[in-house]
Amino acid sequence: MTGPLPTTPREAWDDMKSGNERFISGAPAHPRQDVEHRADLAGGQTPHAALFGCSDSRLSAEIIFDCGLGDLFVVRNAGQTISNSVIGSLEYAVATLGVHLIVVLAHDSCGAVQAAMQSRIDEDMQVPVNVRGIINTIQPAIDRVLLANGTTDVRDINIDHVGEEHLRDTIAELLATSELITEGIASGTLAVVGATYNLRDGRVSASVVIGDIN
Ligand SMILES: [Zn+2]
Repeated sequence: MTGPLPTTPREAWDDMKSGNERFISGAPAHPRQDVEHRADLAGGQTPHAALFGCSDSRLSAEIIFDCGLGDLFVVRNAGQTISNSVIGSLEYAVATLGVHLIVVLAHDSCGAVQAAMQSRIDEDMQVPVNVRGIINTIQPAIDRVLLANGTTDVRDINIDHVGEEHLRDTIAELLATSELITEGIASGTLAVVGATYNLRDGRVSASVVIGDIN
């Protein structure tokens, strides 16, 4: 993200991909993190994109996309699970801040997915009540991966396959819940990209694209 403000979903996604490539290669530019830029932004923000991702401490949004202050409108929670506050925050980014892109970001070896799978093995697993709510939203993804693999034992399935299915569920729920977002996609002013971050090599790979980014 070193160019001017993106005016289309494609420009916004291209900027994010470029920033991620700089991060992967170990040559980040750390743009727009200086005192002058901070002062310039005090009067208002025009972020380049919105990002909704897992809270995992290794998934720091501005670092992995090599961007700066005012670039990303970020919403995160454990296992990137949809809630009213998530939807409301993303709608604010689209309707008020005018972003053209929402990136929904999962990652490999996600602890929330791991906990959801473990709860199938250990039925007496002690989980705080509100963590249980997060785990429950991941159960349909586990069921689909079990079915696809012809097994009923979660030890036979891959955590990252479940993570990918859960990412798809998150995006489906986002679209089903927000008329504002689906209207933006239909009109071509907005796209939603579902992507997964690889913890080891730092690469963000898109697997779901809703709208036009080409
Ligand atoms: Zn996670």
